[in-house]
Amino acid sequence: MTMIAGAATSAVSSLQMDDRWLVRVTDLKQYAYCPRVVYYQYCLPGVRPITYKMQAGIDAQDRVEELEKRRSLREYGLEEGERHFNIVLTSARLACTAQIDLVVETGIGTERRLLPVDFKMSRREPGRHFRLQLALYGMMLEEAWLGPAPEGVIYLIPVKRALRFKLDKRLRADAESMLAAIRMMVTQERMPPPTPQRSRCVDCEFRRFCNDTI
Ligand code: SF4
Repeated sequence: MTMIAGAATSAVSSLQMDDRWLVRVTDLKQYAYCPRVVYYQYCLPGVRPITYKMQAGIDAQDRVEELEKRRSLREYGLEEGERHFNIVLTSARLACTAQIDLVVETGIGTERRLLPVDFKMSRREPGRHFRLQLALYGMMLEEAWLGPAPEGVIYLIPVKRALRFKLDKRLRADAESMLAAIRMMVTQERMPPPTPQRSRCVDCEFRRFCNDTI
């Protein structure tokens, strides 16, 4: 355990701002799936392989970006706007970092709006953790680009569906709470309990580190 704690310090220090850790926004999705996955990712640096599924997702995302450049913005309920791809942001206020697949910027002056778009390799309605992630993208954009982001879109690649969500106060507050929980887990280097949904452990790439599951 001592070895893991030491590794955690060196792994996380590369994601540091001032004296705080920077949480990766994509960690919210993993944390909702199993908090221990996030713990391992920070505390066991370099152990996570890029699986076939992950690589397929990256490849598909590249193709979507190519198609996206030719697609009408009407799918997002917009008449016009400027597209910005793969926007990397760091938030001093939230102490987190993210790469947003696409930001559509519309309007000027008081009408200016920022719409974060997250591409997903899924056919299903996204779970709440994906919306929490979207809310953080919105907040980070507002901080860095100084414009309102009242809504966001999750685009389901396999079914070519754009789902639009309001980034309301409740969603934003819940997203900040989850960020705080992740930060506390990492800074205290405290391994969380395993996911109660043990079926998730069957194909988990970290299964060899969990000897209290299946
Ligand atoms: S094996 Fe199960 S408990 Fe362990 S990290 Fe994977 S999903 Fe979580």
